[in-house]
Amino acid sequence: MICIVCHGDDIRLQDTKEEFQVANDVVYVPVRVSVCQTCGERYYDRRTVQFLEQTESRLKQGAANVREVGRVLILE
Ligand SMILES: [Zn+2]
Repeated sequence: MICIVCHGDDIRLQDTKEEFQVANDVVYVPVRVSVCQTCGERYYDRRTVQFLEQTESRLKQGAANVREVGRVLILE
């Protein structure tokens, strides 16, 4: 597999996090995706895309289990 962005060929499965904004909160969803080691472009398979779409709608309905792991702050 060749990266469509940088044409590099070093693409590896990697544990990473997707970030969703839910009202004033940020929710991190752990996922394992293929990541270009040269430019960082992420490649999602169909199953991961479906999982993320379902997870996003569950989060927006308040139907997903989440736990607090820290604070999000904004500069004043
Ligand atoms: Zn790349």
